[in-house]
Amino acid sequence: MLKVGLTGGIGSGKSTVAKGLQAKGITVVDADQIARDVVQPGESALSEIAKVFGPEVIQADGQLDRSALKKRIFSDPSAKTQLEAILHPRIRQRILEQVNNATETPYVVADIPLLVESNYPEHFDRVVVVDCTEAQQVERVKARDEMSDEQIQRIMDSQATRQQRLAAATDIIDNTGDLDSLKKQIEKLHETLLSLV
Ligand code: ATP
Repeated sequence: MLKVGLTGGIGSGKSTVAKGLQAKGITVVDADQIARDVVQPGESALSEIAKVFGPEVIQADGQLDRSALKKRIFSDPSAKTQLEAILHPRIRQRILEQVNNATETPYVVADIPLLVESNYPEHFDRVVVVDCTEAQQVERVKARDEMSDEQIQRIMDSQATRQQRLAAATDIIDNTGDLDSLKKQIEKLHETLLSLV
């Protein structure tokens, strides 16, 4: 099975590319979805979080209280490290499990925002990077979400740089153009990946 990692900075267009490939019948493993799955009630990560951060981060219905947890890690960098130590290995394991279990798809794509930052490239045959300018990232995220320039900038500063991501790429999607140009590149990428299967 050809394993394809898909990444890009916030608002670069990863999800749009992932959806385009999924529409062609390709299995897409979604790291953001997995990050939500691993903290569902009954999961070991949630009991671990409750143990470390206390019952105040669990809602009455048993779900993780994301805003309570966010407040804790915002004001305490060591809490952030502790949370990441609980989540990251579990997310990583589940992503790789789902990638390895993918059958009945010509190739499998894993949409991983922090692929470059978390040393995933070795697990993939191809690394597709969706690239656009930082100004476009800000503009597109603002059009999609209620976020300020500062919030977006803070996230971009916590992510790899454009150069770091591009250095890890085997395939680059240039998303500095319009959605039509992106669509054409998704078609081309699909053809390229199929030719490698
Ligand atoms: P995130 O990391 O924040 O989840 P992402 O990399 O998955 O973002 P998308 O959600 O695919 O990015 O795209 C961000 C927003 O920009 C979406 O609303 C999308 O429709 C829009 N967008 C993507 N590409 C273009 C483009 N070429 N022109 C205009 N808008 C675009």
